[in-house]
Amino acid sequence: MLRNSSFPITIEQISKRYGRVFALDHVDLHIKSGEFLTLLGPSGSGKTTLLTVLAGFTRPDSGSLKFGDTEMVCVAPHKRDVGMVFQNYALFPHMSVGANVGFPLKLRGVPTREITDRSERALEMVRLGGYAARGVETLSGGQRQRVALARAMVFEPRIMLMDEPLSALDKQLREHMQIELRQLHDKLGMTTVYVTHDQREALTMSDRIAVINAGRIMQLDTPRAIYERPRNRFVAEFIGESSFLQVQVAGGRVRLGNQTLRTAVAAPSDGPMLLMLRPERLRVLGAQDADQAQDATLNLLEATLVATVYQGDSSLMQLALPDGSMLSVRGPSGATAAATQALPGERLQLALKVEDTVLIAAEGAA
Ligand code: ADP
Ligand code: MG
Repeated sequence: MLRNSSFPITIEQISKRYGRVFALDHVDLHIKSGEFLTLLGPSGSGKTTLLTVLAGFTRPDSGSLKFGDTEMVCVAPHKRDVGMVFQNYALFPHMSVGANVGFPLKLRGVPTREITDRSERALEMVRLGGYAARGVETLSGGQRQRVALARAMVFEPRIMLMDEPLSALDKQLREHMQIELRQLHDKLGMTTVYVTHDQREALTMSDRIAVINAGRIMQLDTPRAIYERPRNRFVAEFIGESSFLQVQVAGGRVRLGNQTLRTAVAAPSDGPMLLMLRPERLRVLGAQDADQAQDATLNLLEATLVATVYQGDSSLMQLALPDGSMLSVRGPSGATAAATQALPGERLQLALKVEDTVLIAAEGAA
């Protein structure tokens, strides 16, 4: 079942409108051969539409789609060499596990004997070897989703498309399946386009993430780059927690109130920008940290504690800057964590590493 040849997918200027809504708005996207790429975006952003364009169920109004060098827009779905897994399994409830998995082969006129063998092999891939004779209705949610996966893989497609395949599963099973799916991908090496609205799932599984909003790709990057260097406010807010502070850039200097910040990257141009702060990247300095006041790798901010919320594995503190703008700091929650003992109204000093000082454009999509 191991394939060494998959193809890259090239999407150029693909648009699809429903009435006045652009489900896809001039999308450009290059997916590398063998890559695990995730489309991440809120409900209604166009994820499913893009996936069904790839599968051939939706015909775009304009644009080009290539698998390798071959133009695919007019190619029928069953001629695309694409396996697809949906959120709701879409298994035939009255058929056995084996008959479900073998169905795509039957459609393709494969001899019965071979269907049985290949279905069993696909079931082994998803660790359901020996389940062929079972009824689908006797399986758990996670097992059903694995059957759907085996059915998508059984004809050895070179491209795998998955539309929120884990969203019906409970958290524990989801996290387990995320790792299994990724391992399976690494073993089989097919180009995979995975859809989710769950940012943690996207960060966990992907080689790269395309963040999509209102039919447009907002950023295409590795998980780390998406999280550490979001290109605009939408991406920064959609992935992880963040606070935003207004800063002014003048002559290359970044001013927050009456203080000048040290930044990792030079500010692109003069004018207002936003400083993005991740709560876990800010640290409350205590009396024992006095020497850090001189540390050139840090920016120091003075803020007043408003409230502390205990959240088990960590504590979240809300703080106010002198100008009234608010920010959050996540810190340790243990009994010995000094910062957690601070009382509302106390003035605290916060340290922000220069490398974590991220500036983004002040308005919407940059
Ligand atoms: P997502 O999968 O990200 O939730 P979709 O691709 O399903 O988003 O939808 C994108 C937009 O296109 C939404 O505004 C949705 O209402 C619209 N849309 C999708 N399919 C249809 C359709 N068949 N008819 C009309 N509008 C549609
Ligand atoms: Mg969808």
